[in-house]
Amino acid sequence: MRTNWAGNLTFAAERVHRPATLDELRAIVAGGRRVKALGSGHSFNEIADTDGDLVELTALPAEIDIDSAAGTVRVAAGVRYAELAAHLHAHGLALPNLASLPHISVAGSVATGTHGSGDANGSLGTSVTALDLVTSGGDTLNLSRDKDGDRFDGAVVALGALGIATHLTLDVVPTFQVRQTTRTGLALDDALTHFDALTGAAYSVSLFTDWRADRFTQIWLKRLDGTPEPELPWTAPAPGPLHPVPGVDPVHCTPQDGTPGPWHERLPHFRSEFTPSSGEELQSEYLVPRTHATAAIAAVAALRETVAPVLQICEVRTVAADRLWLSPAYGQDTVALHFTWRQDPAAVTPVLGRIEAALAPYAARPHWGKLATTDPATVRGLYPRMADFQALVAATDPDGTFGNAFLRRMLVP
Ligand SMILES: Cc1cc2nc3c(=O)[nH]c(=O)nc-3n(C[C@H](O)[C@H](O)[C@H](O)COP(=O)(O)OP(=O)(O)OC[C@H]3O[C@@H](n4cnc5c(N)ncnc54)[C@H](O)[C@@H]3O)c2cc1C
Repeated sequence: MRTNWAGNLTFAAERVHRPATLDELRAIVAGGRRVKALGSGHSFNEIADTDGDLVELTALPAEIDIDSAAGTVRVAAGVRYAELAAHLHAHGLALPNLASLPHISVAGSVATGTHGSGDANGSLGTSVTALDLVTSGGDTLNLSRDKDGDRFDGAVVALGALGIATHLTLDVVPTFQVRQTTRTGLALDDALTHFDALTGAAYSVSLFTDWRADRFTQIWLKRLDGTPEPELPWTAPAPGPLHPVPGVDPVHCTPQDGTPGPWHERLPHFRSEFTPSSGEELQSEYLVPRTHATAAIAAVAALRETVAPVLQICEVRTVAADRLWLSPAYGQDTVALHFTWRQDPAAVTPVLGRIEAALAPYAARPHWGKLATTDPATVRGLYPRMADFQALVAATDPDGTFGNAFLRRMLVP
């Protein structure tokens, strides 16, 4: 039985395929009534599930082709960020940002709007310049930022609804060094008062709290080498390396001693050589316009006695506005309120409803790959280009080959 990484979902697929060539993949799609690509399986909901044919791309060649003149890399869809990042760094190149875990596949991450942190850093999909897809009937389709303009912005964060991506082309930048330090002891009032100073204090900033008190327990600061160590007088330097979850050994976390290291060994929270095959956790995340950040954090704080008993850790990050139609950061600088829960769906689900009600005035967009109970019509209403996306899906996949129960619920009025 194939399950997702967290083990909270067993895929309902009748068949699981691992094509070794593009032609095999095209034949599977042509012959399938319902087909879904599975990335590295790190989503927590049924977004990658199907009752038909599930396709893993791990047997296809793991191509990573750098085009130095164009400043891009073309990567096979199933490659994970950890492999891509190491390869790029070895060639003097980098991506602007990474998620907290580097083990997630490039195509699967981009498809759900996955992001890291940083006031000026867009979601991972903002680096995508071209997509190669196998579409319904087994046809191939190339979409590119230069050629397809507005339609391309609709096709990047596409929830797997348009077809199976075989390759993505990404912008790259020169490699860079990052220093990571951690601090503790931030009172909630100080966090709300100095929120802009905190998130602007480094290239990428994360605030963590277990909501057992009105305070943030940890501040992770990832600053570009050569920029000064920020002074945050409302916090204290951490006494040593930390794991975000209280009591967990930080051995698998990236170095926090302020020494410079390559971008891909500091921007994620977790080391790439530590590859957990499953995780005893559930996750949810709600993304609110930055203008509502402090009100939204205060609204969650008001629920902390409900939230804390089922919570492992809550993380607050920032994401720059983008133009990708279904990105949770579409059109507005955004603050992401992330929750890692204990793996107890019966206890967690009612808490999601409480958080969603508290965040409703702040137009909170749920992360596409995590658990949420927000009414689908409400979610659709939070995306100004939703009707255009529905039309794009109807035109690209008229028979609903790449549809599934999740997409029908979320996209179809
Ligand atoms: C420990 C952990 C840490 C995480 N950290 C972050 C984080 O820092 N920031 C964040 O935003 N999210 C984070 N996530 C969520 C994660 O990034 C998303 O769930 C992401 O989609 C996972 O990528 P995946 O390859 O596992 O995709 P999957 O879960 O396998 O698939 C997700 C979607 O992508 C589609 N898809 C996959 N491959 C293809 C393809 N080749 N073509 C077309 N569609 C495809 C699937 O059909 C499905 O719709 C984290 C999750 C975990 C478990």
